[in-house]
Amino acid sequence: MNSPLREIPAVHRFTDDPEIAVYDRALGHGGVRTHVQAVLAQVREEAHQGATSADFSALRSAVLDRLRHEVSQTLLGVINGTGILLHTNLGRAPLAAGALAEATALGGGYTNLEYDLESGERGSRYQRVSALVQELSGAEASLVVNNCAAAVLLVLDTFASGREVVVSRGELIEIGGGFRLPDVLRKSGATLVEAGTTNKTYLSDYRNAWRETTAMFLRTHPSNYRVVGFSQEVEPKALTALARELGVIAFEDLGSGAFIDLGAFGLPHEPTVPESIASGFDLVAVSGDKLLGGPQCGIICGSTECVERLKRNSLVRALRVDKLTLAALASTLSVYLEPSRLQEIPLFAMLASTVESLWARAAAICAAVEGGEYGVRVAPCLSEAATGGGTLPLTCIPSAGIAVRFEASQARMLGPDRLAADLRRHSPPVIAKIEDDALIVDLRTVQQREDELVADALRAALAPAAAARNA
Ligand SMILES: *Cc1c(COP(=O)(O)O)cnc(C)c1O
Repeated sequence: MNSPLREIPAVHRFTDDPEIAVYDRALGHGGVRTHVQAVLAQVREEAHQGATSADFSALRSAVLDRLRHEVSQTLLGVINGTGILLHTNLGRAPLAAGALAEATALGGGYTNLEYDLESGERGSRYQRVSALVQELSGAEASLVVNNCAAAVLLVLDTFASGREVVVSRGELIEIGGGFRLPDVLRKSGATLVEAGTTNKTYLSDYRNAWRETTAMFLRTHPSNYRVVGFSQEVEPKALTALARELGVIAFEDLGSGAFIDLGAFGLPHEPTVPESIASGFDLVAVSGDKLLGGPQCGIICGSTECVERLKRNSLVRALRVDKLTLAALASTLSVYLEPSRLQEIPLFAMLASTVESLWARAAAICAAVEGGEYGVRVAPCLSEAATGGGTLPLTCIPSAGIAVRFEASQARMLGPDRLAADLRRHSPPVIAKIEDDALIVDLRTVQQREDELVADALRAALAPAAAARNA
């Protein structure tokens, strides 16, 4: 009897296959070989147990599936067709070219990160970036840490450990990813004291919640929801004045991190860092990769006295940011010094695009995809984008994109879910959204240089539909 083992194809038949060989670049030739060998080992195992066939094309598909899966687990650039500008799962704000250049230039060599070039002695890594934050926020002092969650933790640990923190019941938020304010308070050793009710909190509620052991009034920006209707919150200025009167710290977890009024981009007003500082908060914490449009980090600004106390906390060493982040942040902040340059920051360039220009780009992509042979309708459509990342939760930004609609007979074979999955598997992956049984690639979050890639991805993903139709 023939051993079925003899039918197992040689490794090189796979590794020489052009469609498999393209993975050499991402995984290395050795890495690709390892996957081929793993698939073949499994076949050998099955052969011992009596399975007979080892069909090359089936094995080749199994190898490609493994390679695709492996690559999808590495950090990859993707095209964001969701229309959500600060998509936390997609890495929030893309960085400006200048910020990337700065990180590249400084990351590849040594820097004066903690070295004072004048004295030749140890310096502070935060000096340059602090000067920029102070200029843009109006605060006396600042500090940068890993992210805004770390900033909140550091502030609470420094000022409120073993003491009480008063928070309005309307602001006891969960930010996402399991980061819940009451839990963070507990972790930092502070005791939460709730003031007011879910919908209404008055200044008197803060006054009544105050005791000798109160360390802080904490105001959090309700980033990803709104309390609307029969509601009442305390004016920031009144809150900070009461905090001063009672001798407690006024801290605002602002989160979203706008340094400018977004009205210029047709967006509703989002509280800005300079406004918070002007309202008299002792400390304000924001994210670097939300509406600031910079790298992931947390920026704390406020009074010199409070920031100096933060710097003396040994946690700072554990929460500090690296030279790449500082280089990218300083470059991003410097753009704000010249408002005419704002659109160098991709977030603002994307916000500034007109619906007409997005529609025109969508039409061009559709023309390159269509040809009418796919049995699906590919056409420009109006869409609704959003800032996301827990900012401006109720705001729709008018947008345009490409809609793929399926005839009922096609939906079984392809359909929006299947097409979305195929687009995610493309290289580079395209992340689309599905609305009313249509697949939509929203161009508000697609950079113009990516248009051709979107067309390629759609053509490739729709090709099976064409093939099925022609069969
Ligand atoms: C987003 C947000 C945070 C968390 O910011 P990260 O930079 O993601 O850690 C904290 N507080 C508020 C109010 C937020 O909106």
